[in-house]
Amino acid sequence: MQDNDNYCDRSGFLVGANGVVPADRRRYRHAQDPDIGCNELGCDSCGQQVRQMPRVELTDPEAVRPVGLFRQDDWLQLPFIRQRAESTARLYACACMVRSVTWPEPMGPEFPMIDESMHQRWQCMGHDPEGASDDADADGW
Ligand SMILES: [Zn+2]
Ligand SMILES: [Zn+2]
Repeated sequence: MQDNDNYCDRSGFLVGANGVVPADRRRYRHAQDPDIGCNELGCDSCGQQVRQMPRVELTDPEAVRPVGLFRQDDWLQLPFIRQRAESTARLYACACMVRSVTWPEPMGPEFPMIDESMHQRWQCMGHDPEGASDDADADGW
């Protein structure tokens, strides 16, 4: 099952905590894969790779500044973030945008169903098929 282009189906998906964001960056979403989130999402606007962490929630969304969140190594140190084991949410952030996701959401511009600005900015940047398998937690850097 090899595609010539190693990009996620529909420009990548965001998934909630019940979905999977593979730690192996070579893995990406095929059309038949359910609930596989992209682990190589990039932002067209700020040029950064999108970070994510499952089962964390914003307790005070008004207090969040995307760039501050993005630059903080340990999100759990931030006063407006809380980790909850039973949470179904996954938090995503680049340097210019923050989004909490519960259900799988495709990123392609042909699916501008939730937040048009987000769908214009975030997309799968492609997955290196030769990249070394990385056992590091995909939830970190
Ligand atoms: Zn992808
Ligand atoms: Zn951005």
